[in-house]
Amino acid sequence: MSTGLRYKSKLATPGEPGDVDKQYVGFATLPNQVHRKSVKKGFDFTLMVAGESGLGKSTLVHSLFLTDLYKERKLLSAEERISQTVEILKHTVDIEEKGVKLKLTIVDTPGFGDAVNNSECWKPVTDYVDQQFEQYFRDESGLNRKNIQDNRVHCCLYFISLSGTGRLRPVDVGFMKALHEKVNIVPLIAKADCLVPGEIRKLKERIREEIDKFGIHVYQFPECDSDEDEDFKQQDRELKESAPFAVIGSNTVVEAKGQRVRGRLYPWGIVEVENQAHCDFVKLRNMLIRTHMHDLKDVTCDVHYEKLPRAVHPADDQVKLTQDSRMESPIPILPLPTPDAETEKLIRMKDEEVGGEQGRMGRCGRAGRTARTWGVGVRTAWGQSEPHRRCLC
Ligand code: GDP
Repeated sequence: MSTGLRYKSKLATPGEPGDVDKQYVGFATLPNQVHRKSVKKGFDFTLMVAGESGLGKSTLVHSLFLTDLYKERKLLSAEERISQTVEILKHTVDIEEKGVKLKLTIVDTPGFGDAVNNSECWKPVTDYVDQQFEQYFRDESGLNRKNIQDNRVHCCLYFISLSGTGRLRPVDVGFMKALHEKVNIVPLIAKADCLVPGEIRKLKERIREEIDKFGIHVYQFPECDSDEDEDFKQQDRELKESAPFAVIGSNTVVEAKGQRVRGRLYPWGIVEVENQAHCDFVKLRNMLIRTHMHDLKDVTCDVHYEKLPRAVHPADDQVKLTQDSRMESPIPILPLPTPDAETEKLIRMKDEEVGGEQGRMGRCGRAGRTARTWGVGVRTAWGQSEPHRRCLC
């Protein structure tokens, strides 16, 4: 900032013709450059859907992205479902809207919560999430960092079933507690058309209480900036108050008041998926796709991925390495020459630079070490020694 201002004051002499042009350095185009680059590269997003079978997961995904990802799905009988183990299925589609490409991956968890004994049925899901983090870490530490595929799960829509008591079931609590430190969980009340508005209100309150009581950390919408306009602030307030979202899904388009809408046709009327008076589908879609997709990715990277225990004190390894290699080295290690005054000065300047660098890195959870330890072997959570990489945040 200060450099920019200094540069500007050098260029601009008040009163001279062409002041405005001279004051324009050009960094105002930076957002456009970022925009162009991002659009060219395309975006990716991985969404997990979890909850027992029949809660409307595939229908909701279809309604959200207007893409049928479940064409080849084989429906199981009740008997088969009881004995089925939890599977992890990945469907990927490339969708494009107004020239913007999105590689959408839906991770489904068929069989989750369907067995008679559901204890630990979330284990395959947590293993899958960990594997994706591990893979990303390996790729980041490898040579081809530029073309890393991010398969980390950015968000998990967890479908809460409408049990008669309106309380969370042990399987809901178990799942969310097992995953809340790894994934952004967005709890949903599915098939909201089965409840009247008063019931939905009460159910939402109860779920919020239970989430607090069990210490579950679901995805927190970021605070709205104070300089946002009033409309945006109002939308943000409504979004926060609506959680957990009560949603309706439908794969069919019906005619309501002369308009073709996505909805469910009942003998007494039509429930419209995109009608905000009927359910929170639009709020969920806006949040997921239009307003918070980037934040979900940021939280995945900066909070969940960073939280994974991965590095031990690399300097310890370095010291050990130096000592060991000294003992085994057939080449005698000569004492370093004492630096002269000029070299001392240069070293001091470099140290100051490194100090500044370190301060910047300090903001990143990964960069706990000084720049001098860059490139040193790091023991990972998975027990291997990996070369540390430059921070990519
Ligand atoms: P999944 O097994 O969780 O993927 O559930 P499906 O999406 O296959 O839906 C199971 C059944 O519930 C289907 O018959 C759907 O038509 C129905 N369904 C899906 N969403 C809703 C909804 O919002 N309300 C109602 N009443 N039924 C729904």
